[in-house]
Amino acid sequence: PKKEKSVLEEIVEETVELIRGEAHLYNVEVHFVPETKTTIVFVDQSQIKQVLINLLKNAMEAVGEALGKIIVSTKRINQETVVIEVIDNGVGISMTIIERIGEPFFSTKDEGTGLGLSISKRIIQEHQGMIEFKNTQAGTKVSVTLPVVS
Ligand code: ADP
Ligand code: MG
Repeated sequence: PKKEKSVLEEIVEETVELIRGEAHLYNVEVHFVPETKTTIVFVDQSQIKQVLINLLKNAMEAVGEALGKIIVSTKRINQETVVIEVIDNGVGISMTIIERIGEPFFSTKDEGTGLGLSISKRIIQEHQGMIEFKNTQAGTKVSVTLPVVS
C-alpha cells in the first residue's frame, strides 16, 4: 500500500462522482454534504476509494428502487479524528448482521460475495481507523473513522 498525504474531501467527492452514474440507474440520489473543508489524511487513496465504493454499493443495494437516498458526509470529531458517514434509507441492518460483518463470505444477498466489508474492514484497520455500523430509524449509517494529519 502506498500511503501519501491527501485531501480527504477530494477522495470522497471523486468517489461519489464515480458512483453517480450507477446510482442514477438504480434511481438513487447520492448527496455529498461535507461538514469539513480540507482535511489532510495519510492514506492509500485507491484503497480508501475502494472502501467507499463498497459502502456506496451496499447502500444502493439496500435502498432498492423506490425513493432511494444516500447521504455522504465528513465530520471532524476532534483534532485527531475525522469520520466519513454513509447514510442510506434502505432496509436497515439487524444486530445479528452487524455482529457478523467482516466475516469473509457472509452475505444476505442471493448473489452477494460477502467480501466487500471484510476487505473494507481490513483496509481501514491498516489505516489505524475504525468502521462501525448502526441501524437507524430510516436505514443504515456506516461510519469510517480515520486519523488526521492536519
Ligand atoms: P455483499 O454486499 O456481497 O453481501 P458485504 O460484505 O458488502 O457483502 O456486506 C455483507 C452484508 O452486510 C450484506 O449482505 C448485508 O446483509 C449487510 N449490509 C451491508 N451494508 C448494508 C446496508 N447499507 N444496509 C443493509 N445491510 C447492509
Ligand atoms: Mg457489498
